[in-house]
Amino acid sequence: MLTHRTLLNQNGILRKFVKVASKAFSNMVLAKKYIYVKPYEGMPTEENVRIVEEELPELKNGEYLVEAVYLSVDPYMRAYAPNYKIGDTLIGTQVAKVIQSKSSKFPVGQYVVGGFGWRTHSIIKDDIPKTEWNVPYIVDIDEKFPLSLALGVLGMPGNTAYLGLLEICKPQPGETVVVSGAAGAVGSTVGQIAKIKGCKVIGIAGSDEKAKWLKSIGFDHIINYKTDDLQKALEEAAPNRVDCYFDNVGGETSSIVLQNMNKYGRIAVCGAISGYLSKDMTDYPKATSVQRPMISFELTMRGFLVNQFLDKWFDAIAQNQQWLREGKLQYRETLYEGFDNMLKALVGVLKGENTG
Ligand code: NDP
Repeated sequence: MLTHRTLLNQNGILRKFVKVASKAFSNMVLAKKYIYVKPYEGMPTEENVRIVEEELPELKNGEYLVEAVYLSVDPYMRAYAPNYKIGDTLIGTQVAKVIQSKSSKFPVGQYVVGGFGWRTHSIIKDDIPKTEWNVPYIVDIDEKFPLSLALGVLGMPGNTAYLGLLEICKPQPGETVVVSGAAGAVGSTVGQIAKIKGCKVIGIAGSDEKAKWLKSIGFDHIINYKTDDLQKALEEAAPNRVDCYFDNVGGETSSIVLQNMNKYGRIAVCGAISGYLSKDMTDYPKATSVQRPMISFELTMRGFLVNQFLDKWFDAIAQNQQWLREGKLQYRETLYEGFDNMLKALVGVLKGENTG
């Protein structure tokens, strides 16, 4: 039966992710996992993936067994698809509980964040080099916060916002910051950090409901890119033009923002979701070229993957957690219940059904 629901907890906070209930058997563990069976064409469908079962072996020394509690659902899961081979397990990060262990580093009962993929149970070695992306680590967040935050504002999306904004845009007090994909996990955090840094913040999002929430958490202006004239709305909201642009979407939206930048503006190119349903990188939707504003306004535009900042990972989580404690950061999550709903949750993200 269906299990898609959006939960509202007593603090009025929406929680988003896929929460998993799965089975461990007495002597052996039967894992479920999603495998890629047919290349995506546009929006993912049930024809593209299949859930299969896998009997896990006994643990060896230095290994531990985790059971997924929350699986993150992120736009990159669609963007990455051209790299999949048929039969691959779908990629992703989860918060998982250690349920058996032959490792002193990951004892039973601990919660771990790791890139274990779309799986209910996984056996992990405890010596993955720290230089690798998505190396597992033990969750270290206050008990009063839900564990799922380790996949959101206190995890990869929160760090993407914090590090991308501060390391690349370097916003100064009084400057104007624009962020697209503003109501997502990354965008909503970017806007709030820019406010903490004393900036004026303009968000671009796809619904009035999202706009209302973003205004309630401190954004100065919201532009609905589906219904507003973006150029006109930017001229009104940013009479002193735009100093920093945190780009989550790409495409024509970003071309228009670039035409409204100030001299020496900085652009952090974080995501390009407007093109993620494309076949591959050669198939992206065409947009107005950006060279002219880049030259005229002497802009600096830098693309990044958040893992380039691994050395600052835990400092970023600590700062975001401190701002959460102080009430300076707010968050929303959208929660789908049940492992069988992973695909539905991914389609929801790609259709803009999620907030946070
Ligand atoms: P989001 O929740 O922001 O992504 C989903 C949202 O994107 C939807 O709710 C929708 O909001 C918007 N969207 C969907 N389709 C389009 C479209 N065609 N044009 C414009 N907006 C669209 O996800 P995250 O916060 O997790 O990530 C934000 C971006 O950052 C993504 O592009 C992601 O790939 C990227 N990213 C990059 C990282 C890096 O290391 N560089 C790390 C993490 C994320 P709406 O209703 O407003 O349309």
